[in-house]
Amino acid sequence: MKYYVLDRGDELSVNLSQTFHKLAFEHGLRLDAEYPDIVVSIGGDGTMLHAFHTFIDRISTTAFVGVHTGHLGFYADWKSDEIPQLMSLMESHANGERPRIASYPIIQLDIIKKSGTLSTLCLNEFTIKSVDGTVMAQVDINDQMFEMFRGDGICVSSPSGSTAYNKSLGGTVVHPSIEALQISEIASINNRVFRTMGSSLLLPAHHHCDIYSRKEQNLMLTIDHLSIPVNDLISVRCQVAEQKVSFVRYRPFPFWTRVRNAFLD
Ligand code: NAD
Repeated sequence: MKYYVLDRGDELSVNLSQTFHKLAFEHGLRLDAEYPDIVVSIGGDGTMLHAFHTFIDRISTTAFVGVHTGHLGFYADWKSDEIPQLMSLMESHANGERPRIASYPIIQLDIIKKSGTLSTLCLNEFTIKSVDGTVMAQVDINDQMFEMFRGDGICVSSPSGSTAYNKSLGGTVVHPSIEALQISEIASINNRVFRTMGSSLLLPAHHHCDIYSRKEQNLMLTIDHLSIPVNDLISVRCQVAEQKVSFVRYRPFPFWTRVRNAFLD
């Protein structure tokens, strides 16, 4: 089995990463930075987002495992002192034992600017926000005009990203077995002149939405932890991607347990 480790870069994560390499060598796992079967992220959810984007071109053949060095994360469910246990399970996996793989829907983005196009994937969410003033954007669903949005921005999240930024916006928490994307508003303006839906929308996998920039505006597009300033946006198409992201579940950790641990316990 070929593996790669991506750490957050702080002292604890770097030390754990070194421990992991040492154990992996002893257990006969092979380090491969280009074509790993398993990518181990050591740090927090942000490190997993980083790992996802590092291997974005190999999403269909790579599976992820997260070790957290701070508080329990949504994508990082192994504790730092559990690395030897994780290693034994990875060794059994390498020797033919098949662990459960949890596959989660992700979002396909097609960004069209006057200066070019960009197609990419996101694990948590895509947002469109204004750098100065309010965002003015037309939202179409399945090629039909749905609403004209004015406000701070729009967030389009995946089911596994529904517990992140989307949740702070009052969006709903969606189980990742549901293939959908969620559109949530960021401080929309609603009065007698401007009107938006006001609630989050959940689109199924066979639907798509297009967000058209409706004035010359300096925008900030965010894709998970990445920010891209854009001043010539034409539109962004968002839909559930054909590919999914895979997480190796060497032991069960149900989604609702994660939600409870993160927000209620
Ligand atoms: P960060 O360090 O500011 O982390 C933000 C927090 O989001 C962390 O506590 C992290 O554990 C949590 N998080 C990330 N993914 C999650 C998920 N799927 N479910 C539940 N919690 C999750 O920033 P970062 O590490 O660069 O992470 C970028 C993410 O931060 C973005 O994808 C976005 O979801 C989130 N974010 C949240 C808000 C907000 O809630 N107001 C604002 C901006 C960004």
